Amino acid sequence: MKRAGLVAALLLLLLAAFGVKGELVELPDVPVRAAPGEFDAGRAMARLRRILGDQRPHPVDSAANDAVRARLVGELRALGLDPRIADAFTCNGAATGQTVSCARVRNLVATIGPAQGRHVLLVSHYDSTPTGPGAADDGIGLASMLEVAALLRDRPLRRPVSFLFNEGEETGLIGARAFLERDPLAARVDSLVNLESRGTTGPAIMFETSRPNGRAIRHYARSATRPSANSLTTDFSRLIPNQTDVAVLKERPWTILNFAIIGNETRYHSPDDSIANLDPRSLRHMGEQALQATADLAGGGPAPAGGELLYGDVLGIGLVTLPLRLGLASVGALLLGFAWLAWRRRGGVGRGAAALALAMADAALTAFLLHRLIGWLRPGEYWRAHPEWISLAIDSTAMASASVALLWIARPVARDRLRIAFWLAFLLLGAILCAAAPGAAIYFLLPPLLAGIGLIWPRAERIATGLALLALAIHWLPLLHLSQVLLDFDQGWVFAPVSVLILFPFLIEAKPALARLGRVRVTAALAAAAALAWLPAALAPAYSPERKQRLSLEYVWDETRGNARWMAYHDRGPLPAALGRMERGVEVPWSSYRRWAADTRGPAVAAPALEGLTARVERGNRLITFRLRMRGSDVVRLVGPKGSRFLAVRAGGSLRRFGKGGAEEAPVFRCHGRSCEGLEVALLVEGKTRIEAAIVGTRSGLPGEGVKLVQARPDTAQPQYVPDTTVALGKVQL
Ligand SMILES: [Zn+2]
Repeated sequence: MKRAGLVAALLLLLLAAFGVKGELVELPDVPVRAAPGEFDAGRAMARLRRILGDQRPHPVDSAANDAVRARLVGELRALGLDPRIADAFTCNGAATGQTVSCARVRNLVATIGPAQGRHVLLVSHYDSTPTGPGAADDGIGLASMLEVAALLRDRPLRRPVSFLFNEGEETGLIGARAFLERDPLAARVDSLVNLESRGTTGPAIMFETSRPNGRAIRHYARSATRPSANSLTTDFSRLIPNQTDVAVLKERPWTILNFAIIGNETRYHSPDDSIANLDPRSLRHMGEQALQATADLAGGGPAPAGGELLYGDVLGIGLVTLPLRLGLASVGALLLGFAWLAWRRRGGVGRGAAALALAMADAALTAFLLHRLIGWLRPGEYWRAHPEWISLAIDSTAMASASVALLWIARPVARDRLRIAFWLAFLLLGAILCAAAPGAAIYFLLPPLLAGIGLIWPRAERIATGLALLALAIHWLPLLHLSQVLLDFDQGWVFAPVSVLILFPFLIEAKPALARLGRVRVTAALAAAAALAWLPAALAPAYSPERKQRLSLEYVWDETRGNARWMAYHDRGPLPAALGRMERGVEVPWSSYRRWAADTRGPAVAAPALEGLTARVERGNRLITFRLRMRGSDVVRLVGPKGSRFLAVRAGGSLRRFGKGGAEEAPVFRCHGRSCEGLEVALLVEGKTRIEAAIVGTRSGLPGEGVKLVQARPDTAQPQYVPDTTVALGKVQL
């Protein structure tokens, strides 16, 4: 019984290590006073507080953003800089999408350092979404850049450093497009440091580089004192495109480093993205890395070599790098080595590998089913307030699956064969992953190498095996944690096989002890523990003041039908009773996310209008010209029916082609801000036949009838991604 207690305690300890894995990426506290020449987060935060003033949302081309810009100019002047304003009406759209967005943007540019030489460019944006104050997004970028300017101003630089505070990032990367298209400075830049945010806490991760990455990574590796980066994340960010200014700026062959914080996404693009919630440790971490990278790019030694590198930080202490080819060859060599070992000591290896595969499948399936079951009982993001509980439930499930597979399927297999089987399968998975994301190789090198030494050198068996397990945990637990922070638990089951992969080699070592306790007993205990672990996940409150429910309200007036509706944009969780019975899954022309809706009575709201509309056929397509009348809206969207295509738009002196887009994607022309009023637009629509388009005007805030609903919204819910909005819907023939 004593032994049972010891084994149980060890397993609990292992689970506890998973439970506190977030600590591995925790940042140190900000010192009260920064050392001279070091990034001063307190001073940076004070500047940000002054710039954001009353912390109103300040979207592109709004009066609120005029005020932010004026205060930003004031702060730059106080630093002895002489910012210039580049004012341009600009349109932008991605090559892969059927949306083009236009706005008048005023980019702020300031330069320090010598007059000669290629510029290092630091970039952040000073507009926010209409939903929140944007203290992190992208206040963290503004604050970091101002402090970097203050510190570098007095240092000898070998080449100029320019600071671009752009406007209109949130509405389609318009400021970055304006910079590339219109600003002569763009031709003199050769390096870029971009600062962004998708949350309010956590480390500033360097998640994207130019390709090949060698030059950027060498600058980063030799300058960053607390690096947070790995080559898997950068490959991942390329496979799943993110929307930062770098998406536009990387059209140029610059050396690029892109930083972002991603902690607590529930506050991103919400009223809670406020100064009070911006973690000063995150600000310091971002500022510090921006300062170090910029100083190295502008004043450091000679430009490093290029090439393609694998890299990964080790608990933020340092950055390990090695040439990609060497890394891939090493994974291949390790794979061959373990295949040779498996052939030499066959008998049981296949069974061991099968146990691993079944454990991964079993854990994924169990987690999937339980997650679905709870989700069915508790609609909405039931894990939102307490992601740590669902994480623990998934890890416990993984531990039960792995132990049971080892005790039943791999029962007769000797420990060394199991080790060989595990590392061989681990490397095979690595090789497959590397085919899609070569940067993953960094995660498949050290642990199997150490394990291999333990297998072929009996005298080092214990120490090498122990070190292999330690290396595995140090490599993989922070990765698992940051993946969970990034992806959240909507598809939480995907983390279960990863947990199995980390736990399995530990459990191989514990297997003899577990077997002595009795297979049936251990299986029953672990299954019960795993089932129990789902209870807190199932019962914990779904939302909290720190992690609120996403719930935006929309008042929608349909001009053509003459009716009004309340709509909810939310996580499909519970809604305030005041909204009454709602129809679900309602398609709307201004978003691809379906709403819940209920009829109501309320005031008519004028939709924007197209004045002086003309149309003529040009080379088989229709060229439509008109003047925009906003009639009180802040944003207008012209949305063609699905299947129709917009080809190009010219507005305010800016010409932009629409991208390809999917077959099911509706084409959208958007204009944001005050300068849309009276704007002359020419729109080229594919084909000769007329189409009926929706015209949608939106403005922040609800009519008086909405006051009661807003009051009925619980304290643990808030608008996110879209503000409470009044929408006016009309139709036009194009
Ligand atoms: Zn942003």
